[in-house]
Amino acid sequence: MASDKGPSTGDATLRRRIEPREFEVFFDPRELRKEACLLYEIKWGTSHRIWRNSGRNTANHVELNFIEKFTSERHFCPSVSCSITWFLSWSPCWECSKAIRGFLSQHPSVTLVIYVSRLFWHLDQQNRQGLRDLINSGVTVQIMRVPEYDHCWRNFVNYPPGEEDHWPRYPVVWMKLYALELHCIILSLPPCLKILRRCQNQLTLFRLTLQNCHYQMIPPHILLATGLIQLPVTWR
Ligand SMILES: [Zn+2]
Repeated sequence: MASDKGPSTGDATLRRRIEPREFEVFFDPRELRKEACLLYEIKWGTSHRIWRNSGRNTANHVELNFIEKFTSERHFCPSVSCSITWFLSWSPCWECSKAIRGFLSQHPSVTLVIYVSRLFWHLDQQNRQGLRDLINSGVTVQIMRVPEYDHCWRNFVNYPPGEEDHWPRYPVVWMKLYALELHCIILSLPPCLKILRRCQNQLTLFRLTLQNCHYQMIPPHILLATGLIQLPVTWR
């Protein structure tokens, strides 16, 4: 694709793309915007065609809206596999996690991979358990990293001409921090990441508190990836 152009006008997904400003705000790991945004891809069987669209919260959470829309619009053939990828600004809450598991158990030919830019109320034990249950039921849940942000920018955003490569370059440390916290959730460890909002200047801050269990259970490369943690020296 020529780099001096925006998305091709022949692109069938053009009208379904979101605006750069929306993407920038919704998916910023430092933003604590309440409304959630979902960008999704659906692939059927062995076809290489990928269907893309986006969704938002309404009276319902965006995950429930997706399930309702998807099940009402699609005719499922159990012998045709369906791969769904979600890029979510917030991870699913425990109620949505439960609904997703229900949806997947009714449609065994569907596989779901979820990338999230932030963990939703991650200190809440029910939300933590909900994510664990989701992962244990076979759903892949990962924190969005640079390649995913880049992918979303190129495929879901109506980026300005010449700015194909210019996704909003969020600080990588936030991606690493959330990845670390997701590990805590998966391993049933206590939270180590606390997010704080300083209201006056709208700065989002974090505090990292590690206990012995974190050092013992979390792979060192995940801890070191944040660039903020020094591993304790073990003397033999
Ligand atoms: Zn929810």
